[in-house]
Amino acid sequence: MVTVLKVTNLKKYYPVRSGFLRTKWLHAVDDVSLDVQAGETVGLVGESGSGKTTVARCVLRLEEPTSGQVLLGEVDVTAVRGDGLRGLRRDMQMVFQDPMDSLNPRLPVGSMVAEPLWIHGLYSRKEARERAVDLLELVGLGPQYAKRYPHQLSGGERQRIGIARAIATHPKLVILDEPTSSLDVSVQAKLINVLKDLQVKLGLSYLFITHDLCLVSSLSNRLAVMYLGRLVEFGATQAILSRPVHPYTKALISAVPVSHPSERKERVVLPGEGSSTIGPTQGCGLLPRCPFAMGVCGERTPMLHEVSPDHSVACHMHVV
Ligand code: ADP
Ligand code: MG
Repeated sequence: MVTVLKVTNLKKYYPVRSGFLRTKWLHAVDDVSLDVQAGETVGLVGESGSGKTTVARCVLRLEEPTSGQVLLGEVDVTAVRGDGLRGLRRDMQMVFQDPMDSLNPRLPVGSMVAEPLWIHGLYSRKEARERAVDLLELVGLGPQYAKRYPHQLSGGERQRIGIARAIATHPKLVILDEPTSSLDVSVQAKLINVLKDLQVKLGLSYLFITHDLCLVSSLSNRLAVMYLGRLVEFGATQAILSRPVHPYTKALISAVPVSHPSERKERVVLPGEGSSTIGPTQGCGLLPRCPFAMGVCGERTPMLHEVSPDHSVACHMHVV
């Protein structure tokens, strides 16, 4: 196995003013470690505000981490400067939630898809435009789309353009941040198929971020479940779906609609809702909502540890 991305003890704290001259820190990402292997998809799941986008932004160096290490292959992402950053942008690409935000409304689609190819010096401008037509075909759009502008496209088509741009430079890693959440369910399903096809054809590795467990489970080899800035469960998708261990993961999974009544499990509902963690913090983030909380949960933060091969959980109830 080849490790494409390795994130170790990543932290991102934002300053928040609290009272006169006092600064507290919002722990957007707290001690997150995860990896993505070549050719696989890791789903990063959690409710809104749990820190998923901040992980992505730190990995891409759109944001400076407070501490921790990010390795893309052998390259230490947090130490890269100057020209190295350009190379990094080529090797790691992101597809954003709202395609309209990331597309230039004044450029025709063909030029937009060609742009990363000549900007990174991979092709001349003319060759890049020819290659753009191939890329459009790869995401299921005919050559006639090259002349259209973003406002002439549907949401699904725009997101296909976002994907074509992202894969243009043959990146080692593609980070997809809620790429389908602004689309209708039927369009979502088609886009997921496009992503699956591309992964097989081009051997891509994905970090797929979503709040929708249902969506990501069909695509992901492994799942990383995030709650209030921390990973609470990480492992093979099948193991997590069939035997979730963390109380938060159990609640997430029990909320997913099932296709057959025999598959229906008892719904686990946690009281309250997650607020942001403004530090210093102590103990487990789920404590105020967890029906199983014990004394230790308020005293020490549970760390991820293996409960079975390729399945780790951060919960004091499951220390082995
Ligand atoms: P998610 O993508 O899971 O919805 P985010 O990573 O966007 O979560 O946000 C995690 C937390 O960090 C939230 O509480 C959010 O308000 C906070 N946050 C994100 N970006 C900033 C920023 N630039 N400054 C201050 N707080 C931020
Ligand atoms: Mg987000």
